[in-house]
Amino acid sequence: MKRINAVRWIFLLCSVEAAEAQTTAGLSRADYRMQVELDDSKHRIKGTQEIAFQSGAADTLHELFFHLYFNAFQPGTAMAERTAALPDPDGRMKGRFESMSASEQGWNKVRSLKVNGVAQRTETRETTLKVYLDKPIPPGGRVRIDTEFEAQVPVQIRRSGRDNNESIDYTCTQWYPKLAQYDRHGWKTLPYVNREFFGIFGNFDVRIRARSAFVLAGTGVLVNACALPAALAQAYCPEAKGPKAEWAEWHFSAENVHDFAWAADRDYRISATQSGRGTDLYFARGPRSEAASWKALQDYTVRFFNTMDTLIGGYPYPRFTVIQGGDGGMEYPMCTMVLGAAKPDQIEGFVGLMVHEAAHNWFYGIIATDEQRYPWMDEGFTSYAEAVVMEGLFPTGDPNPHRSAVHSYRKAALAGLVEPLSTPADFYTRNKSYGMGAYVMGELFLWQLEGMVGTPVFRAGLREFYRKYAFTHPEPSDLVRILERRSGMQLQWYSDLWTGTTQTIDHGIVEVRAVGRDQIRIVLERKGSIPMPLELVLVFEDGTRRSLKVPLDWCFEAAPGSAQPLPFWNGYAPRYECTVRADFNALDEVQLDPLEYTADLHLENNRWVKP
Ligand SMILES: [Zn+2]
Repeated sequence: MKRINAVRWIFLLCSVEAAEAQTTAGLSRADYRMQVELDDSKHRIKGTQEIAFQSGAADTLHELFFHLYFNAFQPGTAMAERTAALPDPDGRMKGRFESMSASEQGWNKVRSLKVNGVAQRTETRETTLKVYLDKPIPPGGRVRIDTEFEAQVPVQIRRSGRDNNESIDYTCTQWYPKLAQYDRHGWKTLPYVNREFFGIFGNFDVRIRARSAFVLAGTGVLVNACALPAALAQAYCPEAKGPKAEWAEWHFSAENVHDFAWAADRDYRISATQSGRGTDLYFARGPRSEAASWKALQDYTVRFFNTMDTLIGGYPYPRFTVIQGGDGGMEYPMCTMVLGAAKPDQIEGFVGLMVHEAAHNWFYGIIATDEQRYPWMDEGFTSYAEAVVMEGLFPTGDPNPHRSAVHSYRKAALAGLVEPLSTPADFYTRNKSYGMGAYVMGELFLWQLEGMVGTPVFRAGLREFYRKYAFTHPEPSDLVRILERRSGMQLQWYSDLWTGTTQTIDHGIVEVRAVGRDQIRIVLERKGSIPMPLELVLVFEDGTRRSLKVPLDWCFEAAPGSAQPLPFWNGYAPRYECTVRADFNALDEVQLDPLEYTADLHLENNRWVKP
């Protein structure tokens, strides 16, 4: 029997909850064993896969699909065509596909594919391979899939590839034939256009043979570090003393992840530290990196993990590796690829990149929502956590860490550059509006909820969401229901309006006047079509401030803990009036939503100053 350590207990607890959710979520499982070899003379990876697949589908499967992402890096592909057609293409990709020579292109070819030992008919359309099953897989059915495949690593266009601007030899992400997800919405078979990912949880056991010139870093734990030559692996295992040889086999293992990424470089330098909860944190920096920046990054990464473990919930894996992938930043399970050439005076940006990409592990990696369907649940939730963590690491003192998101949304909404959050990731008509939706409006989706239910209830709800739905691919309503139960408020209407439409929020103060000797009449108006519960702050001459909550009848209840709320605002009514007991003579000003809990389009009517 295997020893069960604390980390495994967390896995077991999570799997019990995962199993409970299975009846509704339909969780499949795919355990991979892969054995591959990197031929650096031809830039090719050749190997085999053994996949134990258990279907969680409610339907009988008559086919399977695989992703062959490397095939995107050729002229004329969906990724190339989309890049050419977008009005605001990614400058790093624009115009680079057409001139790719055969040796620069990427491809992934499945040479043979067997299910339960029987060869299957397959058909490949660009980045998607279809398997016509000779025997259907019933709900809950298990099969063994064996493949032989060969892939050519493309020159770096985005994310994956070789020889990028920071001289990293190989960034091998989205590099192997990957079984596609089938869920309540069906198969995920769209061609890869450099957007988002969605995968099946499983255990990965990956052996990579590479010439001993290369040091590797990747997803999971390096199982055989101590058996590798000291020159390669001493930072992974101080006792490493494997025999010197021309080739080395790197054996990685990761449990309960939905992808596996790795990178190889002749000059990787590895270092390590530990988070407060004992997660081993590894760092792989390449040739064009600053030692001082990476040393500082280590300390920030420890503080980042300590914050996230409390803010969202405990990181369940034993290890995390920050890898200089050399092209932007991109999240993978148990590791991230980042740009790594930051100078010490660029540390805040460098830390920000690590924080964002590593925070993805809690959302993309562990909660694992469908990023194609709900890119904002991954990028937006990650951006929310990033803003909170960065305020802790580099304090500005602003009680609203999401203010810059509110401001950039306002600018985009006024410029008409907003598309509905319900747009699937691949189908936004502009990169700008995708960024605005997935990152900014996704972050504001949470921030506005926090404003409605209050920070303590919201944060507790977010932690419950993480605990309950880790490893289960939840839907937006799963979080909304938790917050409804915890706050007693009705909130689905807000989720529907904010994620399903481009309707906007705009409230203003119309009038403030004295009524008798000790009362003040305040009149508000709603100009945007989305009503929200609001905060009104009365500021008096002596500097005292009094906060009042304007509750909304669509929520049915006022925010928990809001003392003496004002009358409810009828969500369909364009105007609202209330009378507050206060001395008008002592009043200086009235502020509507001063903390910007709502993405109010026009701030100029949110403040009344006594003339
Ligand atoms: Zn991101």
